[in-house]
Amino acid sequence: MDYVFLTHFHPDHSGDLFAFQMNLRLSDIFLEKGLEKLPTIFGPKGIESFTKRLSEVYELPAFYDWDKIKYKVYGKSEELSNLVAKAYKVEHKAFRPSHAYALRFEYDGKVFAFSGDSTKCEGLERAAKDADLFICDTSYDKDHGSPAHLNTYEIGEVAVKSNVKKVILTHIYPNLEKVDLASEVKEKYQGEIVVGEDLMEIEV
Ligand SMILES: [Zn+2]
Ligand SMILES: [Zn+2]
Repeated sequence: MDYVFLTHFHPDHSGDLFAFQMNLRLSDIFLEKGLEKLPTIFGPKGIESFTKRLSEVYELPAFYDWDKIKYKVYGKSEELSNLVAKAYKVEHKAFRPSHAYALRFEYDGKVFAFSGDSTKCEGLERAAKDADLFICDTSYDKDHGSPAHLNTYEIGEVAVKSNVKKVILTHIYPNLEKVDLASEVKEKYQGEIVVGEDLMEIEV
């Protein structure tokens, strides 16, 4: 793996990161020559100390002096071989504001955007601009809303404003599994809508 992109620190978006790093660390110790390639981990400000502080919490301080994993705080734009990755600050206030980003990847003339956790805001609209594929936080139905997440009507509005070609609904809580979320989004947006499932593969 070359790169990891963290949208924000909430555990439903970062819970696997430490376990993943631990596996890399152990492989590096036990493989004769160590690992030749390690990923760069991109994230909000504090991404490196996030790992170091978790080392303390997990009583596994193996990351304090291990500098083979590189960390990078989101800047304006990253050119990574043929891929351009951009991060846009978004509004995501779950009890208190978080350092949350939507992500945009441009590759071979195609654009893939991911909302992370976000409300309807300028950063999200810019990240999704003209996206071929927009994977979007779908935490609420049309009758509910919050300062932390989008509802289905807001998804439709963002998709129209940003001229998105296809929307994948994700981040769906169990209470919404029986709601026809795609039909609600369709009331605002006439493009293609797919309800995301684990391990789904989509060609762009
Ligand atoms: Zn969150
Ligand atoms: Zn979340």
